[in-house]
Amino acid sequence: MKFGGTSVQDAAAFARVAEIVAGERENSPVVVTSAMARVTDSLLAAFETARKDNFETALLSLDPNFERHLEVSRELTNDEQQKSFRRELELSKKEIGDLLERVSRRSLPLQMLKDAIVSYGEQLSSRLLTEVCCAINLNTRQVDARRLIVTDEEYGAATPVWNETEKLVRLELQPSIDNGEIPVLGGFIGATYSGETTTLGRGGSDYSAALIGAALRTGEIQIWTDVTGVLTCDPRIVPEARTLKTLSYEEAAELAYFGAKVLHPKTIQPAVDFSIPVRVCNSHKPDERGTMILPKSETTRRKVKSIAHKTGITILRISSARMLGSYGFMSALFQIFERYRTVIDVISTSEVSVSLTLDDTTSLDAIIKELKRLGEVEIETNNAVVCVVGEGLRGTSGVASQIFSTISDINISLISHGASSVNMTFVVKEAQVKEVIKRLHKTFFK
Ligand code: ASP
Ligand code: MG
Repeated sequence: MKFGGTSVQDAAAFARVAEIVAGERENSPVVVTSAMARVTDSLLAAFETARKDNFETALLSLDPNFERHLEVSRELTNDEQQKSFRRELELSKKEIGDLLERVSRRSLPLQMLKDAIVSYGEQLSSRLLTEVCCAINLNTRQVDARRLIVTDEEYGAATPVWNETEKLVRLELQPSIDNGEIPVLGGFIGATYSGETTTLGRGGSDYSAALIGAALRTGEIQIWTDVTGVLTCDPRIVPEARTLKTLSYEEAAELAYFGAKVLHPKTIQPAVDFSIPVRVCNSHKPDERGTMILPKSETTRRKVKSIAHKTGITILRISSARMLGSYGFMSALFQIFERYRTVIDVISTSEVSVSLTLDDTTSLDAIIKELKRLGEVEIETNNAVVCVVGEGLRGTSGVASQIFSTISDINISLISHGASSVNMTFVVKEAQVKEVIKRLHKTFFK
């Protein structure tokens, strides 16, 4: 059971989580928690402050967050627990202070210090959640995730070493579970072979949960968040959007790439590897079943399951007569994006031109400069990618015509279908995306 930051944002949220865990106690759960909402951001900001100005200011900036933790412990745990949590917090504060000072003195590699600092969000939230669960008589035990999740040394986005992690998770957690204990771990954090703290990348708690669930071959991995599962589309655009009962791993991956706030495909790979169902549910409404993500999901009558979209998309169009009948052009093109570590979302080519979309434009200027050596470059900003997903799109020709006749008066700049057989992706102007989503939702889900 993994709880995201908003599921542990304050005392009321912690209390709900403890009840949700209590409801599963018969199923021998393992609990993984994110840092309290906004704490990771604050720790990262403190790191930056220490790097640029002053470590004392940096440490002071964290006080409101420390206070939030104490408040939860005051509200939900007994005197003795409060005392011991306060002690833990004071120690952490001292350690964070030391680390921030090291940042300003550059006395260790900065990336290493950054991960060490940011890990306190999950260290503290997992300690606090352990106490809160204890207070309602759950047999919880805090386990340091850094002893279980072994990673490489890519600080900030470390990759877990599966075999080692699997072994340690089983060794450490199974006896505890067999003893009737409920292990509670901080997500997001791990350690290198030599024991240095690392993090798995933003949102990495989902990844931790999937790794642990897969290592234990659990029957189900639950991702508790603040929305009820995966919806038919963004409810801010269509209030009647519904929660999907099931999705396949492949559908979920497509949705995630194209803007739906679903799990990042990488994070559920361990679950996929062992065909473990992943349930996405809402800690604010625990009675709703949420969405189950499964190896295969049934095709719905309407073929379409969900419509995701992503705004802020830039289109690049590279045309060159040199492309005609030559090889190596694509490779040269891709190398440019690789050099700037920039992800291409949608791509479509003709004999003499390539159109592609980017969502990250940090290195756009440099990329364009290099692309100009290959051919003429046109840039078009303020676009949106729309991605229609459903197992039913596999080999169904009728769906495409249904999609495009619904929006026949709207200009579409790029279409991609067939790369994955469960999606149809295209690009429209950002200003029109809401209208597009509304119409498609009406067509497929009325
Ligand atoms: N606390 C980390 C973050 O905010 C990890 C997570 O929430 O999954 O990115
Ligand atoms: Mg999160």
